Amino acid sequence: MGDDCEGLAEECIAYGADVAVYHDDERLERFLHKPYTEIAAHMARGKGTVESTDWRDYDEPRYILFPATNNGRDLSAKVQAELDSGLASDCSDLFIEAEEVSNPVKTGEPGVKKTFEKVLHMKRPDFSGFEYSTILCLDNPGREFHPQGCSVIPGSFEPIERNPDRDGLVVEHDMDLEDDWFRVEITDHDRLEAGIDLTGHDVIVCLGRGIADDPTEGMELGLELVDAFDDAALGITRGIVTSSYQFEGHVESYSNEERQIGETGQVVAPDVYIAAGVSGAVQHKVGMDESDTIVAINTDPDARIRDFSDYFIEGDLFEVLPRLTEAVESGGLGLEPEAVADGGDE
Ligand SMILES: Cc1cc2nc3c(=O)[nH]c(=O)nc-3n(C[C@H](O)[C@H](O)[C@H](O)COP(=O)(O)OP(=O)(O)OC[C@H]3O[C@@H](n4cnc5c(N)ncnc54)[C@H](O)[C@@H]3O)c2cc1C
Repeated sequence: MGDDCEGLAEECIAYGADVAVYHDDERLERFLHKPYTEIAAHMARGKGTVESTDWRDYDEPRYILFPATNNGRDLSAKVQAELDSGLASDCSDLFIEAEEVSNPVKTGEPGVKKTFEKVLHMKRPDFSGFEYSTILCLDNPGREFHPQGCSVIPGSFEPIERNPDRDGLVVEHDMDLEDDWFRVEITDHDRLEAGIDLTGHDVIVCLGRGIADDPTEGMELGLELVDAFDDAALGITRGIVTSSYQFEGHVESYSNEERQIGETGQVVAPDVYIAAGVSGAVQHKVGMDESDTIVAINTDPDARIRDFSDYFIEGDLFEVLPRLTEAVESGGLGLEPEAVADGGDE
């Protein structure tokens, strides 16, 4: 869906699609909830394609995948609600397999097992951020949930190699778009300057919710450590972005999304990554675990980040950060195990 998107439909064929359906309209240049939802649901119901009888004889797709981008997340929820089906958001792995189920809600009878064929298994981190869950969208007896839908984090899969000689069918979708769907009018737009780029620095100091006892002081201590290095930058976890901490003074400008590291933020791989007060949720880990040396500072000796840190300092960041800053200023952070050993009084 979009303005002048036939060429993109052809690209889909080059990337492995057998059929690509597109809807062109100059009013669709920018993402708008209502028309995009109506068109996608109309397509999913198998309507509006003149050649439909030539290319398919079913009217309900088994699966529907959306990108877990800002717009894709919006659209996925609205389209799946419109189609009265379910949605697993932010998936990072998918596979299709038969599934044997004994839950009476799904089988219709206690004690009976039923095999569901071709079930889409949708893997995503659970809400704790520490385990993966597999989500299934199984029909109830007498009730079909179609299509099985999910949004997928961009970059989760290697793209198929582009083959411009591939054959496929490009189909134009036909549907009257009601004026009423365009009540929201975009009168002007601007492309924002690229935000803060955290990639390419030698060192990243990342702060997490461990600063909660005094967020302003925590942020200042993090920035002092950043300044002690020649080439370092400050990153934060999503825990900070979504917190309601009251920051005072200039540190507030360091607390927004453009400094977030992780699955829905930036992916960094510096020489040294210092994570202070960060628990190590899956969504944070994928944004930093390619770093050469990971140093974690945490009061909890069982914090998950310990599993993928090279050095773990069990301690309070309000005490440890100033000492690290002092160490770097006075000649470098000697990353020898004995220099920053676990725990210890000194
Ligand atoms: C769809 C989705 C996408 C997400 N994307 C991201 C993402 O891109 N990036 C991201 O970071 N998160 C992301 N999250 C959130 C993620 O699941 C975690 O909730 C978040 O990373 C936790 O942030 P945190 O480590 O700062 O906070 P917490 O998990 O609360 O951890 C705080 C840590 O600080 C320690 N601590 C407390 N006091 C001190 C102290 N004084 N000194 C030292 N240590 C202390 C605690 O022991 C704890 O380990 C996402 C979640 C979802 C559902």
